[in-house]
Amino acid sequence: MSRIPVAILGATGMVGQRLVQLLLNHPWFEIGALCASERSAGKRYGDACTWRLEGDEPPAWVFDLPVVSTAPEAVPDGIRVALSALPGSTAKTAEPAFRAAGYGVVSNASSFRMDPDVPLIIPEVNPSDLSWLDRQPGTGFILTNPNCCAVPLGIALAPLHEKWPVEAVCISSWQAVSGAGYPGESAWDIVGNVHPHPGDEEEKLTEEPQKILGASFPSSARCVRVGVADGHLMSVQARLAGDPSVEEVLEALRGFTSRAPELPSSPTPLIHVDTRRDRPQPRLDAMRGNGMAVSVGRVEACPVMGIKFYCLAHNTFRGAAGAAILNLELLHATGRLPAA
Ligand code: NAP
Repeated sequence: MSRIPVAILGATGMVGQRLVQLLLNHPWFEIGALCASERSAGKRYGDACTWRLEGDEPPAWVFDLPVVSTAPEAVPDGIRVALSALPGSTAKTAEPAFRAAGYGVVSNASSFRMDPDVPLIIPEVNPSDLSWLDRQPGTGFILTNPNCCAVPLGIALAPLHEKWPVEAVCISSWQAVSGAGYPGESAWDIVGNVHPHPGDEEEKLTEEPQKILGASFPSSARCVRVGVADGHLMSVQARLAGDPSVEEVLEALRGFTSRAPELPSSPTPLIHVDTRRDRPQPRLDAMRGNGMAVSVGRVEACPVMGIKFYCLAHNTFRGAAGAAILNLELLHATGRLPAA
């Protein structure tokens, strides 16, 4: 069966490279075009980007592909889908331009995540929010995946919120350097140091899970960048209606099953519950489920909020590129991709 070609916007960056890597062996989609800034347009992909991902490099034909400008008219005919890994400032104008040209855009950028007409989707949690796409004008659309910490938090809270609505949540994160792209933050800030997050990560982590869960509750987040390559770890303290026991919470986490149709990139189990005292850890657990599972551990009673736990996910797989591809799979499985 022929695969659906996809344009990757921001193809030379940290998330863009992960998208390239994941599309190479995808059963439904393939690389259709590689877009980046005017600094890169016109170059071979191999000359425009320094490959920074672990493991085997892509085959030579990928490095020989031309990089084109980030504009619909620069993309070859026959492509109607774009995965965006653009910086937020660029996404603000580039993604609506692709939508206006009839593209279905699935975005990692934060620019439109809180737009009331743009779905913010974790396929296993809130696939029915796809219907919001009907509110957008024309045949094109923008769909977003959440911030790299909001994804694991949304997944970990979903089975709890379903049984015991979240009343309040406090989060602290320890975030990997790859989350800031390349070159990211200065070595001066990271080496031998812990760096309170300079961006707007805390706002995203506060508001996005509420949109995903379709709920409103007080939420407070503190985010720091640490000298870890990949994998964001969070400490979560939650007040849940009905005040469930630790055993009930563990059972709900273990029993959670995806609300989406079967999708190639969705792992089983989605939530890996670990009862060891020293887990989850980024180095040991970020790659569970091919980087797509969420690890939850240290589920304990909290004397202040009721329940506390740690959760962890790989930021460029489950928190970004893998999340976008999963959303693309959901669109395809539900017949919502624009026709070429
Ligand atoms: P990055 O490594 O800095 O890559 C940025 C990409 O955007 C590069 O391909 C760059 O192309 C391109 N670009 C920059 N300015 C452009 C312009 N004016 N026009 C067209 N293309 C332009 O960033 P990243 O970490 O991959 O992040 C990409 C997006 O994903 C961001 O919105 C980020 O917030 C989001 N995100 C990242 C993570 C993560 O873990 N890293 C997780 C979740 C979400 P050139 O090489 O030509 O400059």
